[in-house]
Amino acid sequence: MRGRSNIVVQKFGGTSVANIDRMRRVCQHIQREYRKGNKVVVVVSAMAGETDRLINLAKSITEFPPEDELDVLLSTGETVSVALVSTILRSMGIMGKSYLGFQVRIITDDNFSNARIIEIETEKILRDLSQGIVPVIAGFQGVTRDGRITTLGRGGSDTTAVAIAASLKAKVCEIYTDVPGVFTTDPNIEPKARKIDFVSYEEMMELASLGAKVLQIRSVEISARFKVPIHVRSTFSDEPGTIVAESRKHLKDILDY
Ligand code: ADP
Ligand code: ASP
Ligand code: MG
Repeated sequence: MRGRSNIVVQKFGGTSVANIDRMRRVCQHIQREYRKGNKVVVVVSAMAGETDRLINLAKSITEFPPEDELDVLLSTGETVSVALVSTILRSMGIMGKSYLGFQVRIITDDNFSNARIIEIETEKILRDLSQGIVPVIAGFQGVTRDGRITTLGRGGSDTTAVAIAASLKAKVCEIYTDVPGVFTTDPNIEPKARKIDFVSYEEMMELASLGAKVLQIRSVEISARFKVPIHVRSTFSDEPGTIVAESRKHLKDILDY
């Protein structure tokens, strides 16, 4: 897209990184984009089921675990994923480099378990990109100004990805998930649901507020505010998915990245 860089942000959700085989598939998507000459920034979620497992562990101690300690615990899910994905990238000859939220410096407020991003420092990421390195950033994690670990609420890796895309003026933020795009309604519940090729930010905001967890609502708010085109697509196929953007007019432009 005009006025934007050649940076592509790729976010992979929990089912996409559920095991090492799936992580290898993820790395093929990264490699494809990298070979096209784009600068690639990766954001990953915890392995499927891991966040729930950690919540249950804490709740086996007390019904209301201390929120700041719960965030330290939950953040470990994404920590495992970035190290494994970077390791696979290096085995493929691509210099992946893991970052936890506090290392990037994704600064948030101190609303533990549902923190809001205040600011993202981009220097280290931009330096890596200029050296051909692929930063692999933990989704969902943040840090307060005084150094406490926070998390962004369930589904928060979407918000990490879109916020990073906004701060880097990326040309697109790809959201890789377990369905081939945004549907008229949840395709795992309604077999007659239809895939949509384009939705405006406003329409997506409405879908998300009605419970379409395919994108966390805050990620849609950020994309609308900073005009970040989003491409929701499946990790398990190479088919184009759904473009979320301002207007259908730019559809071809956006798909041509
Ligand atoms: P990820 O782990 O990749 O972030 P999520 O489970 O958070 O994936 O979101 C993907 C899921 O969102 C799908 O598996 C689907 O069941 C659900 N979903 C709900 N509403 C919709 C919709 N309108 N379109 C697509 N997926 C939807
Ligand atoms: N791992 C977190 C969750 O399960 C964040 C995410 O996957 O987006 O909610
Ligand atoms: Mg999700």
